[in-house]
Amino acid sequence: MKTNLTQAGLTQTGIVTLVGAGPGDPDLLTVKAARAIGQAKLIVFDNLVSEEIRSLFPDTATKLYVGKAKGNHSLTQDEINQLMIRYAQSGVDVCRVKGGDAFVFGRGGEEMLLLAKKGISVEVIPGITAASGCSTYANIPLTHRGLAQGCTFITAHADKELTANWSALATLNQTLVIYMGLSKTEMISDALIANGMDANTPVAFIENGCTQNQRVFTGRLAELTLIKEQNQIQSPALIVIGEVVTVANQMHWLEQLSERSGSTDTAPQQMKLTA
Ligand code: SAH
Repeated sequence: MKTNLTQAGLTQTGIVTLVGAGPGDPDLLTVKAARAIGQAKLIVFDNLVSEEIRSLFPDTATKLYVGKAKGNHSLTQDEINQLMIRYAQSGVDVCRVKGGDAFVFGRGGEEMLLLAKKGISVEVIPGITAASGCSTYANIPLTHRGLAQGCTFITAHADKELTANWSALATLNQTLVIYMGLSKTEMISDALIANGMDANTPVAFIENGCTQNQRVFTGRLAELTLIKEQNQIQSPALIVIGEVVTVANQMHWLEQLSERSGSTDTAPQQMKLTA
């Protein structure tokens, strides 16, 4: 808390905590995030914050849903910003809970800068980003010796024009993780193949990763849209492109083998893999 001299009288200005809540499983909250949520009096949260995490919000806290699903903005980013500024300036601490990590395609940087410009103290708590959480729960390592020496996170969604360098991405020979790519599958596979990526490159969709409803589908780059349509994959979904996807397929076979041989020692995560 600090004194806000811009207000009439001596109002204490609240602080805003930007909490990355991870991709869904409440057990993936950091200790710091869980503590911030547990102590919150006012929570402003997004649609990517899972039901299980919402159920951890204290009964005593005021909860404001400002969910931004694509094409269905309940509040604009500007309205969300103004809301947080108003509360903080009137002396209320704001716990702003976002899916994944606030600084990875989460507009956390914009919110932090804006709040700081208004003289409001901001604390940012990192969260497990979807690329890390979802790929792990799908048994896909983002890097793997002999398969991928690096990994690139990109978004397929842009406010104005998407400026991805497809020729660089197609030839990196690394894992590509695409956020917000579901409505752009045709463009993504066309652009990568046209720029030299092998049409047979393994791909995976992870839908509702790290939740009870996680589904994983794998296939080849050329079939990206087909896999999406055949399985009616819904948002939120992450696309992973690269040889590392074959590790998940190997795990799947190994699990099937151990099931056939009667072992009960199977992996805990639900997996629905196509061939
Ligand atoms: N800040 C978030 C990303 C926000 S962008 C983070 O760090 O994870 C929203 C996109 O993230 C979704 O369209 C989807 O591509 C991906 N995403 C987030 N959570 C997901 C989940 N549980 N399962 C699959 N994809 C997810």
